[in-house]
Amino acid sequence: MPERPRAILILGGTREASNLAEQLCRREGLRVVSSLAGRTMKPLTGAGEWRIGGFGGVEGLATFLRDEGIDTVIDATHPFAETMSLHAVEAASRIGISLLTLLRPAWERRTDDRWVEVGGLNEAALAVPEGGRAFLALGSQHIGAFAERADAHFIVRMVDRPRQAPPLASCELVIGRPGDTVADEIELFRSRSVTCIVSRNSGGGSYEKIQAARELGIPVIMIARPVPQPGATFATVDALLSAID
Ligand code: NAP
Repeated sequence: MPERPRAILILGGTREASNLAEQLCRREGLRVVSSLAGRTMKPLTGAGEWRIGGFGGVEGLATFLRDEGIDTVIDATHPFAETMSLHAVEAASRIGISLLTLLRPAWERRTDDRWVEVGGLNEAALAVPEGGRAFLALGSQHIGAFAERADAHFIVRMVDRPRQAPPLASCELVIGRPGDTVADEIELFRSRSVTCIVSRNSGGGSYEKIQAARELGIPVIMIARPVPQPGATFATVDALLSAID
């Protein structure tokens, strides 16, 4: 019987994950399956096989890994996708297969940045100045943390128009992905009279909003990352690729 190709599962939802899938698909004898949570209406899919939607916790992921004959999991999720990363560690260890993590470096504060560094969403909500016009660069599921701040106005950017209005007393929506250039972000912040930005320290792309805030002298309420899972971790796609023979 011919040997089954080696199978890799990429837990995705980031540009790096799509890039990784594309590069791994060029290798012979490798089956590459990518997985997305299904949060956006037009997901950024690409090379190889794709599946969309949750697995059903650690148990569901472990079953998927076993049924699909996956021998390596690559966690290329967003640095704030804490639950998925934890599930990946637990499921891979349960099945006894290897797990590699792609974790882009966090953004570093520069001396000309005006960052207010906070530990989480609730702290970020408290840090928004009274009467401020805060730009929220956060997923829709995180907006509720700002609901108590009826004394501030929020400009909320979301990839897709939400089915329900955000639970904020005073807000406006900007539908779309982040601007491609710093100039785009400056133009947006100026046109909406933004006085502060709330951002997670995602690292990687989408840095234009942070640069734009720097140029405009606007403070950024920067939410620190969760503690990463232990294990083999790589900062770049190339570094991770070189670890796969
Ligand atoms: P999360 O809180 O860590 O995960 C919640 C649940 O969503 C997981 O338990 C899992 O459901 C499902 N899930 C998450 N990522 C998945 C994936 N790649 N494939 C299949 N199921 C997945 O994650 P999140 O913060 O909601 O992020 C969801 C996705 O959006 C991630 O893939 C992430 O890379 C991407 N993303 C997140 C952010 C962010 O700010 N957090 C930003 C950009 C992109 P089950 O337990 O049912 O398996």
